[in-house]
Amino acid sequence: MSEIIRAEHLSYIYNPGMPDATTALDDVSFAVEEGDFVGIIGSTGSGKSTLISHFNGLNRPTSGRVLVDGQDLWGKGTAQVGPLVDGQDLWGKGTDLRAARFLVGLVMQYPEYQLFEETCAKDIAYGPRNMGLDEAEIERRVREAAAFVGLREELLQKSPFELSGGQKRRVAIAGVMAMHPRVLVLDEPAAGLDPEGRDAILGQIKAYHEATGITVLLVSHSMEDIAKYANRVLVLHKAKVAMYDTVEAVFARAQELVELGLSVPQVTQIFLKLRAMGVDIPTDVYTIPYAVKTIQKALAAKQAKGVQ
Ligand code: ADP
Ligand code: MG
Repeated sequence: MSEIIRAEHLSYIYNPGMPDATTALDDVSFAVEEGDFVGIIGSTGSGKSTLISHFNGLNRPTSGRVLVDGQDLWGKGTAQVGPLVDGQDLWGKGTDLRAARFLVGLVMQYPEYQLFEETCAKDIAYGPRNMGLDEAEIERRVREAAAFVGLREELLQKSPFELSGGQKRRVAIAGVMAMHPRVLVLDEPAAGLDPEGRDAILGQIKAYHEATGITVLLVSHSMEDIAKYANRVLVLHKAKVAMYDTVEAVFARAQELVELGLSVPQVTQIFLKLRAMGVDIPTDVYTIPYAVKTIQKALAAKQAKGVQ
């Protein structure tokens, strides 16, 4: 396994030196292995959106470093970089950063507001076209990405504005997938959708991860969703990393999660309650099948004790 993303002592301050200066990230360090599915969780204002905007160079660290595929996004030779317009670096100096930006595909919150082309197909094609790919490859990628997010063929020639909210969101996600990033970063992709829509979109992202092996960073405020889809969890709390570990290890600290103001899955809450009532049972339980197994094991252990 190799490392694809690393944050080193990353700090970010909005409006530095002003009376309203806000430290949104405070000495954040962690690394992501290629192929991981990392859930990023934390209460509102904990710094999640600020953090992920660093991975494609949208935010520049106030201090510390961000490396993508071993490359410092703002290191020597890449620091003098202008904004990208139509895929062109306006200042013409940022070729390294430009390449690094293409490694990370960022789906912002409510990305459907950024759709603007006359058809969904054109919107999905926008990124690949800016990468200078030929028409046949663009067409292939549009179809492939549309399939990943479950958009039916006939929707592709429609205007995005004729689509439902959930379908528009899919078009926006497909547009980033079509760029074939090595890392797909999504900021609350299920926000505002009904439970069915949430499960569908998150399930499609999981299937995409499994089919492509691409690294996924998923911001969510639902511990339940993260437990279902991620294999590692980054917990942010007040601009700092509170935990960064496997899903199992993070859930083993369920009581601390509750203390950080995060709501743990209902099934975990039950185990925390049992534990508080004096039942000798582990609390790193976050799925129903594992809950069943844990209860069976606890009962068997109790019986064995009874026999002795
Ligand atoms: P999250 O995504 O976890 O809700 P954010 O990264 O959006 O957190 O915000 C982290 C902190 O930075 C919050 O205190 C927020 O108010 C502040 N913040 C976010 N965006 C801006 C901005 N554009 N200007 C000033 N402060 C901001
Ligand atoms: Mg946010």
